[in-house]
Amino acid sequence: MWLLANDDGIHAPGLKALMSAVSRLSDFVVVAPDANCSGYSNALTLDKPLRVEQVDAQRYAVNGTPADCVHLAINGLLPEDPERVVSGINAGANLGDDALYSGTLAAAVEGRFLSHTAVSLSVTSWQPDHWEDAAEVAWQLLSKVDTLRLPERTVLNVNIPNLPIEEIKGFRLTRFGHRLRASDVEPTIDPRGRRAFWIGVAGEPADSGEGTDFHAVANGYVSVTPLHADMTRYDTFSAMQAWLDDF
Ligand code: MN
Repeated sequence: MWLLANDDGIHAPGLKALMSAVSRLSDFVVVAPDANCSGYSNALTLDKPLRVEQVDAQRYAVNGTPADCVHLAINGLLPEDPERVVSGINAGANLGDDALYSGTLAAAVEGRFLSHTAVSLSVTSWQPDHWEDAAEVAWQLLSKVDTLRLPERTVLNVNIPNLPIEEIKGFRLTRFGHRLRASDVEPTIDPRGRRAFWIGVAGEPADSGEGTDFHAVANGYVSVTPLHADMTRYDTFSAMQAWLDDF
């Protein structure tokens, strides 16, 4: 049995697309937020109890974050551990720096304690035009995922171009690129005359050359980036050690 989650909420079309793909591969249960939680990253709800509404035989909606959903599922809600966690399919790219904010990726990362590699899936558009094609790509990847043997605590971050499947050129192994700074916040005035702000859109790609996730999707390939949660910056160790040795 697989566990499916997302950050766009239990009623999102991308989750329906993922369900259609996974239904050809495995039994599954969905535990997903009852509202859109895009941008919630790995947040856990610690100041109120989580409530679970069973929507149908396979689906549970939770008044919490994407990470809450997977955390709850694997730490008590489900009678046994799922074999695998799959998150998505998100409406919107999760490339490079986006990973720091992504609730979609966070739901997969919350499955890192399970023995099988978790998978996060996104389409590179806020308003995807080709959900069925994205579902087919998801199926292609997930149908072979059982043959993949990776170290524990690995997560695959997959980005699917917003294209009809006949225009998708294949799969590319990628590393994260990164973005420039985000657009400025957008000031506004609320109906009661108070100043407020909208967070602006993510920055333009900066490190987006050959080999990056940005480059793959821009050229019509599905980007597949293996990740782990270890944020240690190993390439600073000699400089850091020299600095600390002087203390
Ligand atoms: Mn989202």
